[in-house]
Amino acid sequence: MSQKEIKKITCSDCRNKHTPFLRNGLITTRKCLKCFLKHQKLKKKKARERVKLRKKKNREKKKNSISSLKKVCWKLCSEYNRRKNANEQEMVGCITCGKYQHWKKQQAGHFIPGRNNAYLFDDRGIFAQCFGCNCMKAGMWVEYEAFMIRTFGIDLVDELKALKYVTRKFTPSDLKDLIEEYKLKIKRLDEK
Ligand SMILES: [Zn+2]
Ligand SMILES: [Zn+2]
Repeated sequence: MSQKEIKKITCSDCRNKHTPFLRNGLITTRKCLKCFLKHQKLKKKKARERVKLRKKKNREKKKNSISSLKKVCWKLCSEYNRRKNANEQEMVGCITCGKYQHWKKQQAGHFIPGRNNAYLFDDRGIFAQCFGCNCMKAGMWVEYEAFMIRTFGIDLVDELKALKYVTRKFTPSDLKDLIEEYKLKIKRLDEK
């Protein structure tokens, strides 16, 4: 079948007459070439936008997930508790061995270990510790306890020990509140 024999048709978009494209002798689109390309371009653009939107939504979802919020909260909690007893030169001693160094080199060690207890973000039991004490020597808990009793008394130590067995499920809104609290506490340290 030659092109001349094909009857012209009206484009469904621009209404101009044109010779239709044929695939296996069938008309696959009523659009003219110009409108067809325009339509394809638009379709691709929409698909790209859909992908972008989906990625954005996933990012938002991830940002608001409990585990991401916990991570952000811990980063701030750790900074605050390493800095809270630092001197003007930003140096702070490890509470269990006394090693003195910049707070950035210290770690934030929990008096009571465990990631699921109510006490995870309780500043009363989080202090600067060196890597050696915190990670290599099981937190030096005997010395840690001695420091806690010496500094705060046995009542607080008993209270914190009891919290070891209390699990707490943090909600996203709990964590967001805590994050704001820590930001404020760190800001106060900055202003000191
Ligand atoms: Zn057209
Ligand atoms: Zn140490």
